[in-house]
Order: sequence, then C-alpha cells, then structure tokens
Amino acid sequence: MLSVVNLVKKYGDLVAVSNVSFDLDKGEAAALLGPNGAGKSTLIKCILGLLDYAGEIKVDGENIKLNPKETRSRISYVPQEPALYDITVSDTLGFFARLRKVDPEKTEQVLRRVGLSEHRNKLTSELSGGLKQRLSFAIALLSEVRLLILDEPTSNLDRESRNEILFLIGELREKGYTILFSSHRVDEVMQVADKVIFMNDGKIVAVDNIDGRGRESETADVRMVLEFEEGLVDIASAVLRKEGFYNLKKEKNSLVLGINRHEKIIPIQKLLGEEIIIKDFYVEQADLS
Ligand code: ADP
Repeated sequence: MLSVVNLVKKYGDLVAVSNVSFDLDKGEAAALLGPNGAGKSTLIKCILGLLDYAGEIKVDGENIKLNPKETRSRISYVPQEPALYDITVSDTLGFFARLRKVDPEKTEQVLRRVGLSEHRNKLTSELSGGLKQRLSFAIALLSEVRLLILDEPTSNLDRESRNEILFLIGELREKGYTILFSSHRVDEVMQVADKVIFMNDGKIVAVDNIDGRGRESETADVRMVLEFEEGLVDIASAVLRKEGFYNLKKEKNSLVLGINRHEKIIPIQKLLGEEIIIKDFYVEQADLS
C-alpha cells in the first residue's frame, strides 16, 4: 500500500533521512520509533508531499512525485496539533465535510467512532489535548481514505489520553486501516504496532514484526553488533546487562551480543527507551562451531 525506496532528504549539509526503504502492507500498523532528531517527522513530511526529496515513494503503486494530487488524496494525515476554528465539535466536522464534499450524515458516524458524540456541542477551545487529538482523527476519518499517517499522536498528552488514543489506533487497525505513526516511546509502540521501524540518525537501523518475536527457541543464533558514540558503550552495556543480556562483549565503541534472531528488536528498544543513540547496527550469523 505504501512503498518507500532509497529516500534521502537533506537540509543543506545535514542528512535528515538517509537511504530509507520500507513497505507497508494493507491493514498493517507500523510505528516509526526513534529518539528526537532521528528523522521521523522529515520522513512523514516527505510521504505527505510537503518536502522535496530524492528517492521514490509510492501509494498503491502510484509515484507521489509523478502524480502528487491524486496520490496525496489517498492519504489521511492526523497532525499533532490540529489547526481548529473556535466553533463547536459538530460544526468543525460539518465544515470539513462540506470542504471535502462528504455526506453530512457521515459526521455522526465519525463522532461515534472516535467517542466524541457527548462532546459535540463543546467549543474546540474547551477540549482537552486528548479530545482535540480525537477530533483530529475524526476529521481524518471523514473521507474514505484507508491510509492514516500520524506524527507523534500521543505527544503532549497525559497518560489517560495517551491510552485512549492508542486504543483508538488499535481499533482502527482492527477495522482494516493501514496506519503509520511515529513515536519515541517503546511502550506505546508495543501496544498497537504490527511492525516497528527503528530509526536513528536518519537511518533505519532495524525493522521487526512484533508478532513473530519470541515464538521460536531461545538459542543465540545471530551476533548483533551495536556501535555507539565515544563514551556511550559502558552505559549501553549497563542498560543491557540490567535487562538480562549477559552474552555480551565490548569491543572499542561497540557491543557484540549473542542473541536469538527473533529477539533482536529487544536490545534496540531498551537502548532507545533510555535515549541512548545507536550509531550503527548490524546482525550476522553467529559462528556456532
Ligand atoms: P524526529 O521527528 O525524529 O525528531 P526530525 O525529522 O524532526 O526528527 O529531524 C531530523 C533532523 O533534521 C534533526 O537533526 C533536525 O534538527 C533536522 N531538521 C528538521 N527539520 C529541519 C529544518 N526545517 N531545517 C533544518 N534541519 C532540520
């Protein structure tokens, strides 16, 4: 449904997104996970056609660059901070329904779907952060578009609102929406994503499927090498040991882990969760002899 091939985005000399490639299948929920500055927003802006880039992005096989308007109309975007007029929730949806030439009846259905029916007469300025974010979802759901892109949908929200939004993302996934969302929180990604795309320093450092993880035997069959900036390797080592990764060796600025191939997501999650930047990363077949 969405295919990104060798995407590169530079701001002057800074390479914000470096040779990024991934696919998103229909009905899949994928998370872009990485610390601040990893390049998540830039990647999303490229997909939305808001930035010029090198490489190829296709939606349903259509190249965004060749057919920007048509391709953009196949994506719904849920912004972090929706720009809203200070009118009621109902009127806001009515306004967007007219703008997008959607049947006004649809607004009721969408209000129910995001759990905003009881707030329909509130002014947008009276809504909490969580309710505003739900309204942002509602606006995105007015059209029939099935590919939703969300940039840090839970940032700036309190714990309760965050859980509600994650629940909503999970529900939309169950209904067959294809979803790409960015986050810097490992815990929330694990709740709703089928696939996690780890970004660090503009690059994808790993892609893993949550479902397939940990089902097979626990033998260490791959060697994972994680490279860090000067001085970070000891902190990284301490974090991983605390998490039970004892099969671990330090080599200059790298850590070498003996690990099961289905678990390689875990150390990366733990390190990113502690905001430890991974400079480079690769996995090779362990020498089992
Ligand atoms: P993330 O969303 O993962 O926090 P961003 O995509 O916002 O990361 O940023 C990636 C890198 O690009 C960072 O180093 C950031 O400082 C830089 N950057 C982002 N936007 C701009 C811009 N408009 N001009 C110059 N540099 C930018």
